[in-house]
Amino acid sequence: MGSDDCYNGKSKFIFITGGVLSGLGKGVAAASIGALLSRFRVIPVKCDGYLNVDPGTMNPIEHGEVFVLDDGGEVDMDFGHYERFLHINGKSEWSLTMGKVFSTLIDSERQGVYAGTTIQFIPHVADVIKNHLFKTASKESADIMLVEIGGTVGDLENEFFIEAARQLSNIVGPDNCIFVHLTYVPIPNGTHEQKSKPTQMSVRGLNERGIYPDIIIGRCSEPLSPKIKEKIALYGNIPSKNVISGLDMESVYEIPLSYQEEGILDIIFKKLKIVGVSSPRMDEWKRLVEVCKRKYEDPKKTLTVALCGKYMQLEDSYASIREALVHAAANLNVACKLKMLDTEFLNKPEGKDVLEYIKEQLADVDAVIVPGGFGSRGMEGKISAIQVAREMNIPFLGICYGMQLAVVEYARHKCGIPLANTAEVESDGIEVKEPVIAFLPGLEYVKVLGGTLRKGGYDVFLKKNSLAEKIYNGASVIRERFRHRYEVNPLYINKLEENGLTFSGHSVKEDNIMQMMEISEHPFFVGCQFHPELTSTLLKPSPLFYNLLKAGEIRRNERG
Ligand code: GLN
Repeated sequence: MGSDDCYNGKSKFIFITGGVLSGLGKGVAAASIGALLSRFRVIPVKCDGYLNVDPGTMNPIEHGEVFVLDDGGEVDMDFGHYERFLHINGKSEWSLTMGKVFSTLIDSERQGVYAGTTIQFIPHVADVIKNHLFKTASKESADIMLVEIGGTVGDLENEFFIEAARQLSNIVGPDNCIFVHLTYVPIPNGTHEQKSKPTQMSVRGLNERGIYPDIIIGRCSEPLSPKIKEKIALYGNIPSKNVISGLDMESVYEIPLSYQEEGILDIIFKKLKIVGVSSPRMDEWKRLVEVCKRKYEDPKKTLTVALCGKYMQLEDSYASIREALVHAAANLNVACKLKMLDTEFLNKPEGKDVLEYIKEQLADVDAVIVPGGFGSRGMEGKISAIQVAREMNIPFLGICYGMQLAVVEYARHKCGIPLANTAEVESDGIEVKEPVIAFLPGLEYVKVLGGTLRKGGYDVFLKKNSLAEKIYNGASVIRERFRHRYEVNPLYINKLEENGLTFSGHSVKEDNIMQMMEISEHPFFVGCQFHPELTSTLLKPSPLFYNLLKAGEIRRNERG
């Protein structure tokens, strides 16, 4: 089953590969190229070599956060970059893992699609990949498909993606395909000189696989010198202007601007024979990038936000929350500093009372975020942090698990239900007598989604005259993205509301589900069952993060 026949003859393909090291920011590089092509319909696709069908079950400490799409897909965090840079709503089909490739292949084999044939890595695995790319490009009427291949050239697990890219480039022809290779140009200690050897080796690795990159981006702590560009160009068989500096930047949002200055669009347009298209307008983007980088002399212009979570070992675990804060701060003309509080250790301060210890920790912060999470580890620490934020009037945003635990905290300390808890911890062997947060089986969505998580975009109906309505500029319905299994137990709603907690966001179809909460006597205490960080962009920050920081600014001024 070949794939030449699937090509629509229209879409053009940009492949992005990586060399030398992982973690060079291939996702941001791909998204930056996409941002510059905003005049076209650009469809980003991420190819990942691992055998999970999607990253939904992977630990965020290992692989970074799980990004949730509007259609409910759980995908690699690079989709966060794509959405933030391209202003699109990603789709599950745009994520292609080797697990998905093999499961498609084996399903077809079981259905007799290959009857009689010996199924082999080549051609069959590569065909599944090409077919997927061609079909998605046609279905989406992509002008340009931006395909990021995970890992580094030479990784065993990504070989078939690279081979499929080579074959695909042959089918679509040179005018419809371009290869961009991102590598690393080190300056070893003591040499003061940029070194091209690792790049030469990784380009050679690509060449051995039949791919000759058209653009090489050299990630480096200094701009690539003309000399090093020439050297890389010579070994890479390209003009030296096709070697682009991938300078380390203070803000990732500078990267499209820096690629643009290096002339990347001209090279892409020339290779893909695109004529008569002007460069995108990036004025507002440029302005906000400048604000992101601004240094404020006035200490009151720097807000400190405490992030109280348990995935602290890897920065990427809370990637979208970090970005959402950057967006909100830039639009508010302030700087934002994060204070990470590991909730697993909040409960064991040496020789100190837990709440006193947390009070000390939160004394110099202007806002508190308790992010999403799972399980009992670090949970009591989160509840204590929420209690302190509530009692000390510190602006608070509880996201998903953060909202659920805010409800637990309120029930315990304001509604006279000291044994209140979330039913989720039962699976860790903790007895839950008062499940204010519970699993509600039997609902339609649970059946549809296979009984696991309620995932993806849903409408949230906001209560009239609530803070939530004000935050969302008077909107009565908003759409946000969810990923949860538990929710506020309807049996406790009256009691919670009688004692001063307001549920200000509801779902209409499943009207038992509380999607937002707030406390009116607090300057800013909001919980949301959804993940507002997933849809925030630099040009359009999430209203929740924006208003959290706005409340934080007031607190900062009061703190003096
Ligand atoms: N663990 C909670 C639930 O399953 C919250 C999930 C989350 O924070 N994403 O409902």
